[in-house]
Amino acid sequence: MNKKPLEVVVVDDEMQIADLLKVFLVCISKNLKISTFNDPEEARAHILQNPVDVLITDFKMPKYDGVQLIKLMPADSTKILISGYVSEITEGQLSELKASFFEKPVSMKDLGILIHKAEAKKK
Ligand SMILES: [Mg+2]
Repeated sequence: MNKKPLEVVVVDDEMQIADLLKVFLVCISKNLKISTFNDPEEARAHILQNPVDVLITDFKMPKYDGVQLIKLMPADSTKILISGYVSEITEGQLSELKASFFEKPVSMKDLGILIHKAEAKKK
């Protein structure tokens, strides 16, 4: 029996980056339901209304930053913060958020490891 698809949300105000991450995700697994957003406000509404297993979000965006979106996620979900500005996020912040951090450009291999872990965890 097939498992239910993993619900993945990708948020980046730069459309090309969100699209590229989606291409990576499609290559990583066939059993993902991927929603991409360039507007963090739309992503916020989606997160509040849908069961999301994995959030991959840019840090720096207008209106809501990635940390604010991560705080909306359920405790047992997979949270991944991505940024081109490593120095702005402290180790303390990341461990408090229970989030993983990837510097841009995101490695597909590293992303794959976290997606496969999230798939294994999903009932
Ligand atoms: Mg940005």
